[in-house]
Amino acid sequence: MYDILIIGAGVTGCALARHLCHYQGSIAVIERAEDVADGASKANSGIVHAGFDAKPGTKKAYYNVKGAKMYAKLARDLNVPYDPIGALVIGFSDEDRQTIQKLYDQGVKNGVEELRIIEKEEILALEPNTNPDVACALYAPTSAVVSPYEMTIALAYHAAQNGVEFIFNAPVTKIFRESDQWHVITPKGEFTARAIVNCAGLGADELHNMISDQQVRIIPRRGEYYLLDHTVKCPFSRTMFQVPSKMGKGVLISPTAHGNALLGPSAEDIDDGFDTATTRQGLDFVLEKCRLTWPKVNIRPVITTFSGVRAHPDTDDFLIGQVPGAPDGAFEAIGIESPGLSASPAIAEELGDQIAHYLKLPDARLVKPPVPLLKPFAAMTEEERAAACKENPDYGRIVCRCEVITEAEIRDAIRRPVGAKSIDGVKRRTRAGMGRCQGGFCSPRVAEILCEELHVSPLDITKSGGESYLLVGTLNDIAKEARGHA
Ligand SMILES: Cc1cc2nc3c(=O)[nH]c(=O)nc-3n(C[C@H](O)[C@H](O)[C@H](O)COP(=O)(O)OP(=O)(O)OC[C@H]3O[C@@H](n4cnc5c(N)ncnc54)[C@H](O)[C@@H]3O)c2cc1C
Repeated sequence: MYDILIIGAGVTGCALARHLCHYQGSIAVIERAEDVADGASKANSGIVHAGFDAKPGTKKAYYNVKGAKMYAKLARDLNVPYDPIGALVIGFSDEDRQTIQKLYDQGVKNGVEELRIIEKEEILALEPNTNPDVACALYAPTSAVVSPYEMTIALAYHAAQNGVEFIFNAPVTKIFRESDQWHVITPKGEFTARAIVNCAGLGADELHNMISDQQVRIIPRRGEYYLLDHTVKCPFSRTMFQVPSKMGKGVLISPTAHGNALLGPSAEDIDDGFDTATTRQGLDFVLEKCRLTWPKVNIRPVITTFSGVRAHPDTDDFLIGQVPGAPDGAFEAIGIESPGLSASPAIAEELGDQIAHYLKLPDARLVKPPVPLLKPFAAMTEEERAAACKENPDYGRIVCRCEVITEAEIRDAIRRPVGAKSIDGVKRRTRAGMGRCQGGFCSPRVAEILCEELHVSPLDITKSGGESYLLVGTLNDIAKEARGHA
């Protein structure tokens, strides 16, 4: 039996697991997918929002502003790409000006620092590629960009170094409380705990409604993006928002933490939260909106399109704390749509302390500091590269040519706690496959290295877990089957 079972290994669940390491207790994270960051935490804008969007007095506003202030240190401690580039919300009309004034007032009430409303001249001086018809903007210098999946992986890695167990490929199908303990049923077996925490993103309403007499509904809201090659400089050095709509913060153009330009997202309510397809309609919408910010919008350097699905709660605010209408010992952080990435460190801290207090867990005597991640070969100086190759010849073999990722880095990503088990797992930990050719060149070699490290057959390697196998069989098997049919 565990003290705490966390359901869902997105940024919320992983940040919570890491915070709970400040207490003595047995903790496990149960995840439906084969890796961490398989839901919204892998496919979003990666903005650490300053905190002016959410209505004052809401949980979104409170946790966003608190979480954003924690980010710089967290990213430094965990060695995750983070850049405080600032953001502009640009407006063109009198109506936009009123909205911008409202955002400014909200921001001030929410406790966002350094906000300013600026005029056309200053906007064009800061961002010369902006549409010259721009009239005014809200300038938020405290906004930042972060690599969302690398943050999630790093949180999980640090939690695992401190004894948290991760159980993958284990979708929770049933939860109930019996004899003062929680029972959590998965295809991998039954787990029991003194407390459970629902951090299951799009699957959270189903789990909440199993144990509470106060029902909630999570609406999947898809957002589609274009990602441009980072060899072409992003036309803006800050995140460029347009005024928000009732569906969300609107379409942005922003450099990512790795220097690519990101365009999107759209916002469309869909029935199936697993439907992460991109559509002509969604991408055309993004392009049309981007033209308003950047009239010379150029998508020739596009290297991929993707979509992420927001877990929009029908209450319109985060649901955090003890599950209302449920037996004791059930906690949740659900309906964590945007700005959930920004809010996650603050949610983890406050919810974690609440759970530890409920269970009367003693403080941990020592939280092990994170084992530093290897410095990327691509970021090393010539001298550092020479020294790295001398120390470990695997550094001498470049596997991903677009992003300059070596065999040493790929092997390390597989060997680490909460290591990669699939092509996408390696991609998110090392960037192998993130570049211009999108893994066309390096995937076969990454698959071979996965086989060597995990001692499995090439037939077992998947793109991203489940049934996403790369190979359908050996030529011998296929020939045998064909002979059988003949
Ligand atoms: C298009 C888009 C843009 C966004 N942009 C931003 C942004 O710029 N800044 C920002 O702050 N936020 C942004 N967000 C919001 C942010 O991505 C989310 O708030 C955050 O990732 C939520 O993390 P999570 O851990 O709660 O959920 P998730 O990352 O979805 O994780 C939930 C996990 O639970 C697992 N799970 C589900 N059901 C079960 C089950 N039954 N059993 C076991 N496991 C289960 C899932 O597989 C998943 O791994 C954006 C979101 C989207 C979709």
